[in-house]
Amino acid sequence: MQKLNRIVDDTIKALEEMKRNGITHVEVSRATLEELGKPPRHPIMTLAAAVKGCRKCAELARTRRNIVFGTGNPRAELMFIGEAPGADEDAQGEPFVGRAGQLLTKIIEAMGMKRSEVYIANVLKCRPPENRTPLPDETVNCLPYLEKQIEMIRPKVIVALGATALRALLDIQIGITKMRGNWYTYRDISIMPTFHPAYLLRNPPAKKEVWQDMKAVLAKLGREAPKKS
Ligand code: URA
Repeated sequence: MQKLNRIVDDTIKALEEMKRNGITHVEVSRATLEELGKPPRHPIMTLAAAVKGCRKCAELARTRRNIVFGTGNPRAELMFIGEAPGADEDAQGEPFVGRAGQLLTKIIEAMGMKRSEVYIANVLKCRPPENRTPLPDETVNCLPYLEKQIEMIRPKVIVALGATALRALLDIQIGITKMRGNWYTYRDISIMPTFHPAYLLRNPPAKKEVWQDMKAVLAKLGREAPKKS
């Protein structure tokens, strides 16, 4: 920021000097003008760019096709956090785009929201081979990125999808079945743990509990669940 302020000050000084010397116009390319007209980049984009070359986990860096940083509105009130990218996410570079992701999108829409309105991320940004559970070292390596994302987005509510997300944030070893449906706190942010959509694909009756949890989330956000048509 200090560096940016210095650049702006120096630019203003240079322009004033030119004005004193009788220069009344400066030439600016169309590309520069377009760049200046764009809204400022959210800092999360800078973080995403920094994560791109990460090689902290040698195996994951070797086997991944894409880093799956996160997607959605960086000013979201609501953030969903899953475990790690699967094959579809690794191929497309976006979280929750496979079958479990399509179910998550349906859940978000049933809540009366759009996927682009919330923020979606995972504990791990790289796909573990064969979709194995993240190793403790991998979580330790990757968690600072998620912590930074949460700090930048500052959502009102986080939905932890499954035990891995919950344990990464709260360092608690109790199972998701006991924890879901109850509120917890992570750095002043309310967390609602619920079942992972991949579990719902294997066990559809559990959708009822997830819907209860999402209604509690909507109430916390001061929103109403849309009426069923
Ligand atoms: N499961 C996850 O936990 N995250 C994804 O992005 C996809 C599936």
